[in-house]
Amino acid sequence: MIPAAFEYHAPTTVQEAIGLLQQHGDDAKVLAGGHSLLPIMKFRLAQPKVVVDIGRIPGLDGIAAGKDGIVIGALVTHDAVEHSDLLKAKCPLLPEVAGVIGDMQVRNRGTIGGSLAHADPAADYPGAMLALDAQIVATGAKASRTIAARDFFVDILTTALQPAELITEVRVPALAKGVGAAYVKHPHPASGYAVVGVAAVLTLAGGKVQRAAIGVNGVGGKAYRATAVEQALQGQALNEQSVAAAAAHAADGVDAQADLYASGEFRAHLASVYVKRAVLLAASRAT
Ligand SMILES: Cc1cc2nc3c(=O)[nH]c(=O)nc-3n(C[C@H](O)[C@H](O)[C@H](O)COP(=O)(O)OP(=O)(O)OC[C@H]3O[C@@H](n4cnc5c(N)ncnc54)[C@H](O)[C@@H]3O)c2cc1C
Repeated sequence: MIPAAFEYHAPTTVQEAIGLLQQHGDDAKVLAGGHSLLPIMKFRLAQPKVVVDIGRIPGLDGIAAGKDGIVIGALVTHDAVEHSDLLKAKCPLLPEVAGVIGDMQVRNRGTIGGSLAHADPAADYPGAMLALDAQIVATGAKASRTIAARDFFVDILTTALQPAELITEVRVPALAKGVGAAYVKHPHPASGYAVVGVAAVLTLAGGKVQRAAIGVNGVGGKAYRATAVEQALQGQALNEQSVAAAAAHAADGVDAQADLYASGEFRAHLASVYVKRAVLLAASRAT
């Protein structure tokens, strides 16, 4: 399929891009890696009159150690996250997540900012962002603001971004020594998207759980923190039984989505299975 005709702009600064978004309002769409936007344009599910390609704006593609953690530019590709030595050393959860996104072509072009802004419920990053308590920096015409990941994902394909705001960076904490983290997913056999994906970040003390943060994507209309599991794990010594008992709450209070591949009931079951796997793997890494 060929997309409908559109006007193309390639701004070279964030402010120029925001100016174009303000000028064209609902007629405009931001283009980053294009791996979510272009397919929906080709299917004519989106027909923007104006495309604002931010891919040539310098300064948005770095990964650097910041004051309180690691700062990842919005244009950083999944491949760059997967292979970042800084992230592997300080926040290995994200390279693990990035490494299982789509295929090599998708990872080479797709960006972290584009994935978060698109807010596909089956995308891999959102659960990890929640488990890490990440912060998303949105820049508008007048100022930048920081949005906590827990406030960022609003609904299916809907975020807290305002019109004419761009994600410019994502901030994640450097994980303290001894904190274990893991991401496991059940990929859709055709698309590779997460039917269920679970990110677990665990702090153990004296062999018991001091803190558990568990983010789940793929199950509901948006990624969520499995708070019932986190509470059930609190203070527990971890073994197959205690983790299975806690993981049984993986989809508590969530309206598990159904599609041709998986019923809501199957998705909720998979959530328990994958929460258990993620927690046990994270625990094995918490040394
Ligand atoms: C075959 C295939 C398989 C895939 N498999 C997976 C998978 O397994 N897991 C997974 O997580 N993803 C998967 N994806 C999606 C992929 O990760 C996309 O790259 C990603 O979702 C969007 O990033 P992008 O940079 O390509 O964004 P684009 O497609 O350019 O943009 C996506 C949306 O975000 C907006 N946007 C982009 N950047 C910004 C910004 N900085 N600020 C504000 N708005 C912005 C755009 O306007 C658009 O609405 C797959 C895609 C394909 C084509």
